[in-house]
Amino acid sequence: MSGCASILWFMTHQSDHSELIGFQTAFDLRPDAVFSPSDTDDVVAAVRHAADRKLSVAVEATGHGRPGPVTGGVLVSTKGMDRVTVDPAARTVRVQPGVRWGQVVAAAAPHGLAPINGSAPGVGAVSYTLGGGLGILAREFGYAADHVRWLDVVTGDGRLHHASPGSELYWALLGGGHRLGVVTELEIGLVPVRTLYGGSLAFDGRQVDPAAALRAYEAWTRTVPDGLTSSFAAVPYPDLPALPPHLRGRYVISVRVAHTGADGDQLVAPLREIGPVLADSLREMPYTESHTIHSDPDFPHAYYGDSAVLSGLDPEEGGELLRLTGPEVGAMVVVQVNHLGGALARPAGNSVPWRDGRFLVRLLTTGEREKARALLDPAFGVLAPRTLGRAVNFAFGAGDRGEGLYDPETQKRLAGVKSTYDPANLFGDGYGVSA
Ligand SMILES: Cc1cc2nc3c(=O)[nH]c(=O)nc-3n(C[C@H](O)[C@H](O)[C@H](O)COP(=O)(O)OP(=O)(O)OC[C@H]3O[C@@H](n4cnc5c(N)ncnc54)[C@H](O)[C@@H]3O)c2cc1C
Repeated sequence: MSGCASILWFMTHQSDHSELIGFQTAFDLRPDAVFSPSDTDDVVAAVRHAADRKLSVAVEATGHGRPGPVTGGVLVSTKGMDRVTVDPAARTVRVQPGVRWGQVVAAAAPHGLAPINGSAPGVGAVSYTLGGGLGILAREFGYAADHVRWLDVVTGDGRLHHASPGSELYWALLGGGHRLGVVTELEIGLVPVRTLYGGSLAFDGRQVDPAAALRAYEAWTRTVPDGLTSSFAAVPYPDLPALPPHLRGRYVISVRVAHTGADGDQLVAPLREIGPVLADSLREMPYTESHTIHSDPDFPHAYYGDSAVLSGLDPEEGGELLRLTGPEVGAMVVVQVNHLGGALARPAGNSVPWRDGRFLVRLLTTGEREKARALLDPAFGVLAPRTLGRAVNFAFGAGDRGEGLYDPETQKRLAGVKSTYDPANLFGDGYGVSA
């Protein structure tokens, strides 16, 4: 154990402590004790401390995926374990659990390499990967989980395991690993990408027909190669002075693109026919600028969201989805539709489900959980005929709903791993994984 300084003790109701503040502000953390480990030995000590006293264990790196409130028990805050080690010759990187994707992008770029990171540089690399990890170049390279070489994890039995391909623990952690233990380090492959063609093409949702734009997007996705990854978004921006003038008070429809080939301009040309372009940030860019493609909010806030992986996007259902989530509903609902397929469809030795999905619909809103559900459930209901399941990484506050996160066979196998490695259920149920 590296020293008592890494273990913070305090009673509940100190929710302003920095270890308890995360990106998601909808849910408070009020544990009985917080452990802030500096190394794997500290994590083992924290889990054993909890196991000996039969206390629950919550884990947090950044709070982007905080599943819900925490009351009592032990919190393992991994912020202090933030070492990134790139091996340029092997094209791999080792990341500790407090590492954010922005750090990995910055560390890999001088070697002409890039990770399979997502849209936001502030998201934690480890938890993102445990949930699959749908990256900006996902259709070309597959899920982040598909690139993991090994993981070290302290499981609910208080033991440290090294999980390699072929083992049941490796299979379970990559796709269903949010409640099996504390991953203390993993090694993941990097890809040789220095630059890409990307950005977004935005339209005013009051000048173009949003449903027609979604239809055009769906038709366009049938024509693009696997090397092009994209998503459609519909966002009713509030009328706030802090927003850029071209977004303020507007219902913005956009298509976000990332492509490593040289023919990006030609490939996106049909999208320009959707209507008058409100903003166009498509360009060749160094990979280090790839976070500008989505420009996700980077400030803490409260949100609730869920997702549906679809076998296809029906035009009628797409139109109804936008009607139920558009500006006239009187609440801000962010709709994102990710084009899946390509390398995402390739089988891999992990538990990431729904590989035959063609689209992922993500809905996000603010406000209290029950009200948010009442708003989003009818929209997901419209998509039900083509819904294969849900994606664990986009269950923002909705992880307590276990159903649909995995197919029955995967769910059963994950339950078996959970009962082996977390027999006392220290890490709790949720995210669809229970013993
Ligand atoms: C703005 C934004 C953009 C996003 N973009 C993408 C995207 O492009 N692609 C994508 O796939 N996902 C994306 N996500 C989802 C994100 O990957 C998940 O929410 C992920 O769980 C966040 O990890 P974190 O460490 O940042 O969050 P945290 O809230 O710190 O962790 C989330 C949960 O993961 C578990 N966990 C954390 N650390 C560990 C560990 N070391 N060992 C075991 N379990 C652990 C815990 O159960 C914890 O509650 C995005 C989320 C947000 C808010």
